[in-house]
Amino acid sequence: MAGLWPEDVVAGMALLAAGGMGWRMVAGRRRAATEDPGSDPARAAPPSADALSRMIEVLDLVPAAILVLDAGGRILHAGPGAWELFGDSLGAIVRHPAAQSALLRLHEGDRAEVDMVLDVPVRRAVRAQFRRVDIGRGESVVLATLLDVSEQDAVERMRTDFVAYASHELRTPLAALTGFIETLRGPAADDPPAQQRFLGVMAGQAARMQRLLDRLLMLSRVQMSEHRKPRGQVNPAAVIARVRDETAPLLDGGPATLHIDMADDLPSFPGDSDQVVQVLLNLIENAIKYGSGESDRAVRIGLRVRQAAPSAMVGVDVGATGGARNGIAFAVTDNGPGIEARHLPRLTERFYRVEGTAARRTGTGLGLAIVKHIIDRHDGRLTIDSVVGRGTAFTVWFPLAG
Ligand code: ADP
Repeated sequence: MAGLWPEDVVAGMALLAAGGMGWRMVAGRRRAATEDPGSDPARAAPPSADALSRMIEVLDLVPAAILVLDAGGRILHAGPGAWELFGDSLGAIVRHPAAQSALLRLHEGDRAEVDMVLDVPVRRAVRAQFRRVDIGRGESVVLATLLDVSEQDAVERMRTDFVAYASHELRTPLAALTGFIETLRGPAADDPPAQQRFLGVMAGQAARMQRLLDRLLMLSRVQMSEHRKPRGQVNPAAVIARVRDETAPLLDGGPATLHIDMADDLPSFPGDSDQVVQVLLNLIENAIKYGSGESDRAVRIGLRVRQAAPSAMVGVDVGATGGARNGIAFAVTDNGPGIEARHLPRLTERFYRVEGTAARRTGTGLGLAIVKHIIDRHDGRLTIDSVVGRGTAFTVWFPLAG
């Protein structure tokens, strides 16, 4: 069924159910003037409540996201497929202005199709097809078939973004490489020490391009999965063990040290372990990268893991706002130069980097965008608390099941 537009199947099933009960699709083309159920006792409609419940029984067997609406556009019934796919967002879909205006127009024709985008809790693109069905006694209902087209939508947006941003960001290192190649072929052709120096710079620029492409691919993968809730369970102790292993090479011999403080017996939470590890790695990598500012001074990075309510989090909220229930909070702190408050709300935007810091040279501006998308997918929360000259704390929170 997946990938097929099920609307015709749905309409067919409704017609099938309707056939035995004197219903017919409300469609000028299909309805002959003589076909008046009132004038034909054999086709007399049963009480519409029975008709409706019979139709719903049939529709619930169709493996698609189907709603039955009343003539005013209110939800009379949401099928199991609709609940599974859209859950709490069903009300927002039906109330969406595009859906409302399509429903108004439905008097004139027999079907309408609309595309809409929901922004809360995460961006989701929905295609809805509405069809009006007469259930006898002058009453009618609207069948709505919903498709989640977020993946196509994300691909389309990413394609456009990629072209715009990536070409801009890649142009600088590419221009540098081209310039150095010219120099090596011309003025530096007979100057081995200069050649070595330039090759070193070129290697750095090539590595920057590589980093940028890796990050872009990671961001696109995260965005593609964002509207699908993670199905796994995350064990905080296992996550911390992996983070400890994966950060060891970054810390080895450098000026930064990592201090882990984890409460005992923390419960697991619903999520994608690889993505949770990725979030912590990005935050710790940043603490290492930016923690010492322009100097070589020692950076002390803290990673503290606790069970906590989201209300216990301090700082500027930049992720999804999460619920009120309990969850697991991971706080990554550093004693680095800190970030001015005016930058905090913008840090998770793609390609945003704080002017005048080491970030302009080394960063891609994508690490925190990746963090935010992962947290949004988990219905989690991200807060940033920073004091210039003292350090920064990034706290990520993931809800427990419940
Ligand atoms: P980047 O690839 O540039 O590190 P991020 O999205 O991870 O991209 O970070 C965005 C910006 O936030 C960085 O460029 C840097 O200016 C700032 N930043 C992130 N983490 C820290 C930190 N721990 N201390 C100071 N500044 C930070």
